Amino acid sequence: MKDIFGLTVEELQEALQPFSLPKYRARQIAEWMYQRGATGFADMTNLSKKLREELSGAFVIGRPKCKDRLDSSDGHTTKFLLEFTDGTAVETVLMRQPYGNSICVSTQAGCNMGCAFCASTLHGMARNLTTGEILSQAIVISDMLRAEGQGESVDTVVIMGSGEPLMNYENVLGFVRLLHEDYVLGLSYRSITLSTSGIVPQMYKLAEEGIPISLSVSLHAPEQELRSTLMPINRKYPLVDVVRAARHYAEVTKRRVTYEYILIDRVNDGEEQARELVSLLRGQLASVNLIPINPVAERHLLRPSAARIDWFEHYLTAHHINVTVRREMGTDIQAACGQLRNKHLDG
Ligand code: SF4
Repeated sequence: MKDIFGLTVEELQEALQPFSLPKYRARQIAEWMYQRGATGFADMTNLSKKLREELSGAFVIGRPKCKDRLDSSDGHTTKFLLEFTDGTAVETVLMRQPYGNSICVSTQAGCNMGCAFCASTLHGMARNLTTGEILSQAIVISDMLRAEGQGESVDTVVIMGSGEPLMNYENVLGFVRLLHEDYVLGLSYRSITLSTSGIVPQMYKLAEEGIPISLSVSLHAPEQELRSTLMPINRKYPLVDVVRAARHYAEVTKRRVTYEYILIDRVNDGEEQARELVSLLRGQLASVNLIPINPVAERHLLRPSAARIDWFEHYLTAHHINVTVRREMGTDIQAACGQLRNKHLDG
């Protein structure tokens, strides 16, 4: 049976053609799936009983099961392990920030980019997620927030969970476009951020799509050699080309690009790296987000001291680079991406 979760209204209209329904029915069904928590046609009480039975015989609404859930002790962060029908599981995180609810979604089950500091890549990549599977992560959390009854909703989405989103380009774009639709979450493109390890051709392609989402680039080192040791993809798409593509994205979309920089003790937190980072980014419509590393046991990479983090931040500020340090959220619930999934894979 065809899974209709993740279809647009236009795609639904096409799928529903054999039933000769008026066009507005597709929109009603979309609203049930994406805004009203329907997990099956039986829930859709404004459709006739006969129609609900017919649709149940032709389609399924694929939604994941929640296999595990961890709440941080401060109550701000919840991590979910969601399992799809084929048994593939991914992590999705809800962060209750002062400015609203932000969620972080995965785009692939695992990842094969091989970044040295990342738990998501330890088991390689199982597969790309479909548009519906990526969207279902947002809808599961949106339904949960609505059920809590406090009038809360998903306010921002970061595409920064496991996987390299630009290696699953069409499905991720389908997801972004759906998030923006008023029959889904109606999010502005500005409240959606896509994070990439630097897949240069797709960065140029994304700039031309006419969807001005925020772009975040995982930089993590300001020079070629060091970045290649931390991020093997840097051998294929060198640092200078990544920064050039990011600059192009900022020029076309007029959106400030964020460079993510994981601070690792005695690896990339020295004065030399700070100086190189300044010269790489000076004069760009950009900001740097410093992320003191969440230690990954398998990787032996350590977090710098608080004094070192402060020093690095102040060096950038003193040299006119916009900089933020990521608030620590959820370190007590294994917030580094991939860690909860790995726990289940390792048994
Ligand atoms: S940091 Fe992102 S791109 Fe790199 S291995 Fe992890 S999930 Fe993949």
